[in-house]
Amino acid sequence: MTIADNLSTITTRISRAALRAGRDPDQVHLVAVSKLQSVDAISAAHSAGQLVFGENYVQELVDKVPQLPPDICWHFIGSLQTNKVKYLAGLTGLIHSVDRISLAREIDRHWSKTGNACNILIQVNISGETTKSGTTVDDTLQLIREAAQLEHVRIKGLMTMPPFYDEPERARPYFRQLRLLAQQITAEKIPGVAMEELSMGMSGDFEVAIEEGATLVRIGTAVFGERSYR
Ligand SMILES: *Cc1c(COP(=O)(O)O)cnc(C)c1O
Repeated sequence: MTIADNLSTITTRISRAALRAGRDPDQVHLVAVSKLQSVDAISAAHSAGQLVFGENYVQELVDKVPQLPPDICWHFIGSLQTNKVKYLAGLTGLIHSVDRISLAREIDRHWSKTGNACNILIQVNISGETTKSGTTVDDTLQLIREAAQLEHVRIKGLMTMPPFYDEPERARPYFRQLRLLAQQITAEKIPGVAMEELSMGMSGDFEVAIEEGATLVRIGTAVFGERSYR
């Protein structure tokens, strides 16, 4: 299977999952997770029509961007240290992993220099596992209220990573809870806050995530094959 074959299989699976849930397949977008994948592999995916890629490491992203076509939209999906934000300014279309106000403030500060606003998602640690990043469910609303005040930050939705299960069905309650949390936030009608995006679902569980309302699925292994860890 080539990367182009994988992309076409995934696109079909995304459509079927959306239709099963009575959703429009065009409302679900694939973020091809290219961390630890080569520039050639990303190029192959781009040639097959994929335009949105997700990276986890700031230095890796900074190295790759100039080597690849300018029409790529880069999403940052990894845990982000405040002191690295400056390298991302102007490079990313969406940051999925904002989980604390200090990080949102730093993004605001650096994007103010670009004259644009940075699109962000709030990462929520639904499962409460201590090893996972993300704000707690209880703190989410307060974080959003504070981040919504920042002029150069636009809150577009929520992101989560459920615990890893061999059986994707077991992740469903976490996806559902993220959707319900987004609905609660929408009901608060916070100015400037739009819960348009739910970033949830990876190679092993994206169909379940789509059935529960995902608009962005972050898929790496099923697109590119196994990663070559550094
Ligand atoms: C690596 C990663 C993915 C993709 O995982 P796969 O199982 O390879 O699809 C998705 N989201 C985040 C945050 C990741 O770090």
